[in-house]
Amino acid sequence: MLRQGTHGNAFWQEIDTCGMSQERKRICILGSTGSIGEKSLLVIADNPDRFEVVGLSAHGSVKRLAEQAAEYGVKQICIAGKGGDVAAPDGVTVHRGPQGLIDLVDACEPDLVVVATVGYAGLSPTLRAIELGVTVALANKEVLVAAGDLVMDAARRRGVRILPIDSEHNALFQCLAGRREDWPLRRLILTASGGPFRGRTRAELASVTVEEALCHPTWRMGRKITIDSATLMNKGFEVIETHHLFGVAVDKIDVVIHPQSVIHSMIEYEDGSMLAQLGVTDMYLPIANVLAWPERLPNRRFKPLNLAELGAFTFEQPDVEVFRCLGFAREAVRLGGTYPAVLNAANEIAVARFLDGEIGFLGIPELIEAAMNAHQPDGTADLNAIHAADRWARQWCGRREVVSRI
Ligand code: MG
Repeated sequence: MLRQGTHGNAFWQEIDTCGMSQERKRICILGSTGSIGEKSLLVIADNPDRFEVVGLSAHGSVKRLAEQAAEYGVKQICIAGKGGDVAAPDGVTVHRGPQGLIDLVDACEPDLVVVATVGYAGLSPTLRAIELGVTVALANKEVLVAAGDLVMDAARRRGVRILPIDSEHNALFQCLAGRREDWPLRRLILTASGGPFRGRTRAELASVTVEEALCHPTWRMGRKITIDSATLMNKGFEVIETHHLFGVAVDKIDVVIHPQSVIHSMIEYEDGSMLAQLGVTDMYLPIANVLAWPERLPNRRFKPLNLAELGAFTFEQPDVEVFRCLGFAREAVRLGGTYPAVLNAANEIAVARFLDGEIGFLGIPELIEAAMNAHQPDGTADLNAIHAADRWARQWCGRREVVSRI
């Protein structure tokens, strides 16, 4: 790896050799068969001198998990769901179930854990990694949405960095790099593509199909997050994550629709200066950024962004009357305690019910709102209270009499 220096060619060569002989960063990927997991492996495959894969987990795609383990020579894997079994080759340890994710993090002794699981399942292994003092590259949004205060407190106490993979937070992370602590921020601005239903009215949304909702205009992602993008719940979650990751009040976090998805987010200082991060619409870039952090990798996969070819960027206000989930997210942070966990769990159930055809698209915000109204917090917000609120919301949203009212 070449570094900036003033000592002439000998210096460059010396650093280059040092870089090659450096120990490779040991990476564990939770959720390795999903889109973020696969792309993380691609970044690693492109930079074999920099990274080594030491642990992999999948929820149900066991065949693909076994292929990945063989390809990258991984000795510790976990089957987190009930998706089936795999004949473990000699010398490979297979951990199982939710506890298996924690055991995997323990066993593979990583330098960095990529948390790319879907949903609430990512919380316990994230807390375990923090406990062990291991850097966390976070793609799973539910971890910070449901338990942001707990996770960030634990990370601060242990001195662990949480590096954001999500394109918006990674953009903010890059824009804020080099900021002096006494430079006052006016606001952080998250960009949103607007999803497939941008510009539609409530009446038009009543009859949209699962297939239409799964057709995202700019990003290729898993099913859950694609639906979350269509309802703008995803952007609501990102407001909550931004609040936790960067310690900024929600009323200083704005959302602007930017359909081209080239500006990934922006910061604005009190003096009026705005800084933006731009890049091609591919998660390869933010993943490479966090895996290599605090260094930067060469990019052999993408042509430089051609701004002249792109021509124009546009911006518009999100319609919060139509896309009500954005408001629920802000409200959950204002209410605090276990409300964000209820928001998250209710959303997971609502999305699953929509995908199964049990409720319509507008049933998603309705079910979330009903769960938040029905929630009765007991005033505590420790891990037990969060687990209990999560369980309560899942059960409540699954009750037949609740669903039949939606
Ligand atoms: Mg995002």
